[in-house]
Amino acid sequence: MQIIKRLWSWAWSWTSFWERRWKPRTVDDAPDDPNDKVIYLVEEDGKVWQVVMACPCGCKSRIQLCCVPGSRPQWTFDVHNDGTVTLHPSVWRTVGCRSHFFLRNGRIIWC
Ligand SMILES: [Zn+2]
Repeated sequence: MQIIKRLWSWAWSWTSFWERRWKPRTVDDAPDDPNDKVIYLVEEDGKVWQVVMACPCGCKSRIQLCCVPGSRPQWTFDVHNDGTVTLHPSVWRTVGCRSHFFLRNGRIIWC
């Protein structure tokens, strides 16, 4: 019985670990009110031109990152085999909460 309990708690902790990650969602239109833990990849003609997300600090601000090649600043991202996203470069809000963070493998790394 002990082993089942242990297995259960292990599975549970793994699930919650997974749930804490931000996951990508491809959309045609940028949401006005992005959900927590979702990286919106806004697509047009099969190309992602914008990434939209809610600020991870909890202030709920909408963060828009331009991915159009040649634009400044320009962000790029990788979607990994495990379904998580990495963003380049870091996100630094110059207004509001002034959050500065990296998104690596779906996890927020604060600077
Ligand atoms: Zn914030």
